[in-house]
Amino acid sequence: MQEHRVDVVIVGSGGAGLRAAVEITPPYTCAVLSKVHPLRSHTGAAQGGVCAALGNEEEDSWEWHAYDTIKGSDFLGDQDAIELMCQDAIRAIIELEHMGMPFSRRPDGRIAQRRFGGHTKPENPADPNSRRIPVRRACYSADRTGHAMLHTLYENALKNNVRFFSEFFVTDVIVYNGSCRGVVALDIRSGELHVFHAKAVLFATGGYGRVYQVTSNAHAGTGDGMAVVYRRGIPLEDMEFVQFHPTGLWRLGVLISEAARGEGGILRNKHGEPFMERYAPTVKDLAPRDLVSRAIITEIREGRGIEARDGTFYVGLDLTHLPEQVLREKLPEITGFAQMYLGVDPRREWIPVQPTVHYAMGGIPTDVDGRVVLDANNTVLRGMYAAGEVACVSVHGANRLGTNSLLDLIVFGRRAGKAIMEYLRSGADWEELPADVLEFSRERIERLRSGSGQERVAPLRKELQRSMSEYVGVFRTEQQLLQMTSILQDLRQRYQRLRLQDTGRQFNTELVEALELENLLDVAEAITYSALNRRESRGAHAREDYPKRDDQNWLKHTLIRKREGAEPEIFYKPVRITRYQPVERTY
Ligand SMILES: Cc1cc2nc3c(=O)[nH]c(=O)nc-3n(C[C@H](O)[C@H](O)[C@H](O)COP(=O)(O)OP(=O)(O)OC[C@H]3O[C@@H](n4cnc5c(N)ncnc54)[C@H](O)[C@@H]3O)c2cc1C
Repeated sequence: MQEHRVDVVIVGSGGAGLRAAVEITPPYTCAVLSKVHPLRSHTGAAQGGVCAALGNEEEDSWEWHAYDTIKGSDFLGDQDAIELMCQDAIRAIIELEHMGMPFSRRPDGRIAQRRFGGHTKPENPADPNSRRIPVRRACYSADRTGHAMLHTLYENALKNNVRFFSEFFVTDVIVYNGSCRGVVALDIRSGELHVFHAKAVLFATGGYGRVYQVTSNAHAGTGDGMAVVYRRGIPLEDMEFVQFHPTGLWRLGVLISEAARGEGGILRNKHGEPFMERYAPTVKDLAPRDLVSRAIITEIREGRGIEARDGTFYVGLDLTHLPEQVLREKLPEITGFAQMYLGVDPRREWIPVQPTVHYAMGGIPTDVDGRVVLDANNTVLRGMYAAGEVACVSVHGANRLGTNSLLDLIVFGRRAGKAIMEYLRSGADWEELPADVLEFSRERIERLRSGSGQERVAPLRKELQRSMSEYVGVFRTEQQLLQMTSILQDLRQRYQRLRLQDTGRQFNTELVEALELENLLDVAEAITYSALNRRESRGAHAREDYPKRDDQNWLKHTLIRKREGAEPEIFYKPVRITRYQPVERTY
């Protein structure tokens, strides 16, 4: 065993982890652990943009942005946190610009902005109650915004004395006598376990898209951070809210950014009808994602989908009317994806698309300073922080608006970093480690390496992914969710009978995949039971047996806690409302 002593451990080197790392300055030491090379984190795949009411293109205000986010969240987002984020967004973008991020520009040199789903302004700014129409609020670097952001933050983190541990896979968090004291990680290269003893730990491990069959997420998106804390009795918040992005490439799920519709793209059914006009008469194709995903599934269910060679269905994303220059300069990446993966030329043909699992609205509950909280009273777990997609602040509530995630990373990643610095300066110290600190991880790994059953990792994972897509999809029913709970029990038993073909130590990627599979199972459990419990439809959670939103009974956050050998425990936390009482959500 190797033991490292640092002031701060950051798990995850995507936008959230790196933005926090920028704050941790000498004399304090910081280790950033990542299971992939930092620049391969999923943030680098983000395409469309990061939003702030800069008003560079037209009049805008952070209050309009906040209202859109609250309405987009189907009124489940915590309004104080949303106001804070939208107000801070303007500063955060200028800060990125000063750090060196290469934004796309307007001819006058200012940062260019474009339209995105759910971002609106009053048609008559003098009358806040007038009809709301799309506004240009998303700042971007062509359709490679995340790439530009990740590189910028990486360079800025390198300026501090941050030490990177790449290809270190975190297996456990050390929580002992009421405080968080470090993490345990597997060095994938050597197969050795390392203990990182720290005064403060930040989880920034991103999302869990790989719980599903069709997803826009990278292979590393296996929900590790959520599973690790869930196994240690820390609750997860609002896990039933899984975002399906409406436009994944048919069957593959590779993302075609909403920026395509922001620049004027139109969704069409098999009759060529621009069907979003029927579902969202004012904003049409720029409606929020939950609504557009349901519209696509409804079109297909009602027989208006386009049939593929293999008998599956999709709808068309029509960009053929856009000037070639727009495709070339503003959407080069997705134009290439359509050509490369499906052999479709978007200048001449519609791109075949279907909803794809994209984003986790739920996650590890935190306050606005990234501190992990354990219950409805916001009891803080000392020394433990979370930020980014793994966390639930909650600024996205039941449905996130496009471009609000990259914003969440830079606003709350920074705040978590600052809160950690304050904690260190207030005299936080290393606290004693428990004697058996490695036991939990070592036992799991040895059990897997010596497993002699007949089950294999890949088929089990496939079955989990297929079942989640079928039973916990865009639409859900009690019957389907119950079915999924029994599939999960079965899969867990079969997991006990895994046998690895590679029993070596060095670069044992099969072992890592087996550990990830257990994480996927735990995350799937939290999603399924939370979804079964919420008997209403809100945002991305559409229950066909309870089709209406029910503010009387369900205007509250779900908290779910694991119980060994039993069904998880569910309890609640109130939604924080400042200015906006829930109203019916129409677009
Ligand atoms: C294709 C795509 C396009 C997107 N486009 C946009 C967009 O235009 N605008 C927008 O706002 N949002 C967009 N999003 C969403 C947004 O990019 C993500 O929500 C966000 O980047 C997540 O950042 P993060 O820092 O939380 O985590 P990530 O960037 O996902 O990084 C997670 C990190 O955790 C590490 N990690 C995970 N598990 C472990 C473990 N067990 N041990 C050690 N390290 C671990 C990983 O190695 C990685 O470094 C997009 C998402 C996708 C998938």
